[in-house]
Amino acid sequence: METPLTKYIKPNQAPLDLKEYEKTGGYEGVKKILKGMLPDDIIGLVKTSNLLGRGGAGFQTGLKWSLVPKEKDVAGVRYLVANADEMEPGTFKDRYLLEGNPHQLIEGMIIASYAIQAEKAYIFMRWAYKKAEVIIKKAIEEAYSAGYLGKNILGSGYNLDLHLHTSAGRYICGEESALLNALEGKRGIPRAKPPFPATSGLFGQPTVINNVETLSWIPHIIENGSDWFIKLSTSGEGGTKLYGVSGRVKKPGLWELPLGTTIREIIEDYAGGMQDGYQLKGIIPGGASTDFLIASQIDTKMDFASVRAAGSRLGTGTMMILDDKTCPVAFIHNLIKFFAKESCGFCTPCREGLPWVEKVLMKFEEGNATLKDIEILEFHTKYLVPGNTFCAHAPGAMEPLQSGLKYFKDDFLRHINEKHCPWR
Ligand code: SF4
Repeated sequence: METPLTKYIKPNQAPLDLKEYEKTGGYEGVKKILKGMLPDDIIGLVKTSNLLGRGGAGFQTGLKWSLVPKEKDVAGVRYLVANADEMEPGTFKDRYLLEGNPHQLIEGMIIASYAIQAEKAYIFMRWAYKKAEVIIKKAIEEAYSAGYLGKNILGSGYNLDLHLHTSAGRYICGEESALLNALEGKRGIPRAKPPFPATSGLFGQPTVINNVETLSWIPHIIENGSDWFIKLSTSGEGGTKLYGVSGRVKKPGLWELPLGTTIREIIEDYAGGMQDGYQLKGIIPGGASTDFLIASQIDTKMDFASVRAAGSRLGTGTMMILDDKTCPVAFIHNLIKFFAKESCGFCTPCREGLPWVEKVLMKFEEGNATLKDIEILEFHTKYLVPGNTFCAHAPGAMEPLQSGLKYFKDDFLRHINEKHCPWR
């Protein structure tokens, strides 16, 4: 089984420096494109590879790049931004790439920037990733010294400056338009769309924002082609995926596996199965803002289409496990507390609605909830939806709640009938 993204990363050891990365074939992709590929050739190759964005939305990367207007149509600087603001609860996949193989990301960014003819690129990184910050800074310096960044890269005439920006630390800045506002020094709140960043992004200029895992794929696709990439997956969607598992399994962790590996294989073969004495009750497949799947859906393939068909979203692919000895209401309450705190406060339904939902869930935990409170929760799952809120934050927060009410309603009712949390 091939693991292109992680095969050279040695856990708990120093990251690959420039020389080591070059020994693995690193920066050959940059040399190849600057010698003989046109920007449209690269976009075409990435399109045929069907590389779906690994940040959560699953948008086709080549298509995203192709939406950037040509230089003759829009003058001025264009930008590429790597979204390294990894703050989704339970998600720690980009950190592994940032800390383990920083040049893989930088090479991917150079190729992506060339494809959209960007002259400036940013890595927008989560403030808490202090170790990654040091590693990325050093790697950027190495890449400048070797002539892979800066003016006239490798004598090609192409110029690219790459900067690291560490976030001030709000979850909403992972949303691409809020990220752009923050990068411009403004309040980190989402923007109205359209216009989309491809036409009017950073400082009003054409901008592409891609996730770290997505960009890390680009050198490999340039080297090996789109057919190779598609065949790596078991589902036809292309590539491998960094899958994570947290919760009461024997070996929580992160693995690079073919896209389309089943939940069962990930939990049983890689995470070692459930801890002794615990049964699998629910799975949040892709970060906190995705719907629960339940134990009977364990044979679902972890790819975009299969998880969607099962009623949830692949999201970041890093699953959180709910076991039978953990209160599902408390589990959901904990997530909602996070989302309420991280609401940017711009639109009323989210700013007021999420703290209200949080308070109602607290009533269940304290044994004061009534049947009316179930109605209030259900109302919010139908009201905090796209169209009623300015961005996807509040609708995302409702996903574990709505599916929790569907699958674990009896557990909510037990809190009402027994007037306390049955798990305490
Ligand atoms: S949904 Fe929430 S996070 Fe999004 S704009 Fe409204 S208040 Fe801000």
